[in-house]
Amino acid sequence: MRRRILISNDDGIYSPGITALAKVASRFGEVRIVAPDVEQSSMSHAITASRPLRYKPIRLDDFAAYRVNGTPADCVALGTHHWGHVDLVLSGINLGLNLGNSCWHSGTLAAAKQGALLGVRGIAISTFVSEKKEPDFNKLEPYVAKVLELLLEEKTMSLVNVNLPEKPRGIRWTRQSVRQYDGKVVPGKDPMGRPIYWFTVTPVVGAEEGTDRWAVEHNWVSITPLRLDLTAEKDLARALALPQARPISVTKKRKLTGPSRKKTQKRRLGVE
Ligand code: MN
Repeated sequence: MRRRILISNDDGIYSPGITALAKVASRFGEVRIVAPDVEQSSMSHAITASRPLRYKPIRLDDFAAYRVNGTPADCVALGTHHWGHVDLVLSGINLGLNLGNSCWHSGTLAAAKQGALLGVRGIAISTFVSEKKEPDFNKLEPYVAKVLELLLEEKTMSLVNVNLPEKPRGIRWTRQSVRQYDGKVVPGKDPMGRPIYWFTVTPVVGAEEGTDRWAVEHNWVSITPLRLDLTAEKDLARALALPQARPISVTKKRKLTGPSRKKTQKRRLGVE
């Protein structure tokens, strides 16, 4: 059976990035697109639990495609449900980089993450976009193909975040840059003079060498293997080594012998 590749994004099903990705992916297997009907950028891993979802077939170039009135994570869940068996989830190509702390907000990465949570390898792919023009997907295509070739050889990576600069000069393995939070609140006024706020992502200067941000700043394609388990291993090991590491109970349950129940309750409340 040919490899089944489910493709989603957070820019919406009519984004040029998703067809660009589907074209490259179709060299590696059978492709199906399931994506949000409107843009869902910065929705992270939100799921739609309070209203029903629709799964509507459309034609997108030569690809079987379905649009969903939900989030990227919804799309991957529905797509996997309908297709039965999926071998790979690809998300993107996002119009905008997803580097460093953006990983926490990214709907693009969340679609890949939803795949990984369902036991299917997920790869998120994003690229630089300027105000003036859309990315040149034809120029990026050989790099996307090479990245997929590399990652399909790897058997253990369950979640991978890929970012492409405008003019790549090669590919590098990187780590996520987490040195500084890049969210910024910009205050303003609405037409009635009332205060309003924009939450923006501003570039942080001075990324450390070897990180995703550093690589893309230096025109490398960045591949970052990620993990689902967020446990802080060192902190957990330290906590487990403490003398009180045995299960901690907050309310002490004592067998009520001796003083009356009332007295004990009073004592517990400190009303001796
Ligand atoms: Mn997006």
